[in-house]
Amino acid sequence: MTTAPETSYDQSIRIAAALLRRSSHVVALVGAGLSAESGIPTYRGPDGLWTKFGEPTIDGWEMFCEDPAAWWEVAIERRGDADAPGGEFAQAIDAAEPNAGHRAMAELEQMGHLSHVITQNIDNLHQRAGSTAITEIHGNRAKVRCMNCGWRGELADISLEALPPLCPVCGGVLKNDTVMFGEPIPRDALDESYRQTALADLFLVIGTSAVVYPAASFPIMAKRRGVPLIEINPHETDLSPLADVVIRAPAGTALPAIVDLLRR
Ligand code: NAD
Ligand code: ZN
Repeated sequence: MTTAPETSYDQSIRIAAALLRRSSHVVALVGAGLSAESGIPTYRGPDGLWTKFGEPTIDGWEMFCEDPAAWWEVAIERRGDADAPGGEFAQAIDAAEPNAGHRAMAELEQMGHLSHVITQNIDNLHQRAGSTAITEIHGNRAKVRCMNCGWRGELADISLEALPPLCPVCGGVLKNDTVMFGEPIPRDALDESYRQTALADLFLVIGTSAVVYPAASFPIMAKRRGVPLIEINPHETDLSPLADVVIRAPAGTALPAIVDLLRR
């Protein structure tokens, strides 16, 4: 079921809804574009942070490994400082609320039309909108993770009096859960992403430029098994040529439209 380039927006929404209705294990790969309408800038694309300010240096992970206490000190010092590196991004996430796209994804899950979300976003907005079946391959900014046993907890619940903070389960060093440049993706998140990809009988690719690996490989792996792909993105991506249905619209418009059709 391939939509020709001239397929109208309405037609592609209808085809997407029909595919969702007939599928039994739908998996979505989500990127920064889903949260763009919540006021969080994407990295790439015309208004992307990297497009405006250049790509960040890739030393965060090394710095953390060399001296976790020093890393935490700097992180705590920079909190709330818009002029610090990454400050604009952090403030945008702190101020963000889930948008219509996040809410529609939570509704799709509740309606039984969406089995799992693999998100590259770290902003916690899926959970705040009501989604529960989520794998965060790049972590969650509101959480910490143990470098030894993999335990995760809320950053807000962790005492930062002594640095680095230590794991309540095993005493290992705690790191923020967000995956840094150079840091391997946590094994549990990667395993679950591959497991979900293998189970999928329909794959949604929403608001991602699909150039960050391994995330971009999940829809490609599904497609190789003959699983249909639906892309929701206002702009063309590297995955667009592989997609069976392309919805060229913001996620906050397209996803609620699909939910509306499925409710009828
Ligand atoms: P990206 O910045 O590379 O690409 C964003 C994509 O979203 C682009 O293809 C763009 O066309 C599309 N887009 C823009 N507005 C949209 C809208 N309203 N609806 C649908 N799509 C829209 O994002 P990415 O692919 O997720 O890049 C990956 C990295 O960026 C990840 O590692 C992620 O951790 C990080 N990141 C996360 C956040 C967040 O948590 N909200 C924000 C920025 C970057
Ligand atoms: Zn631990």
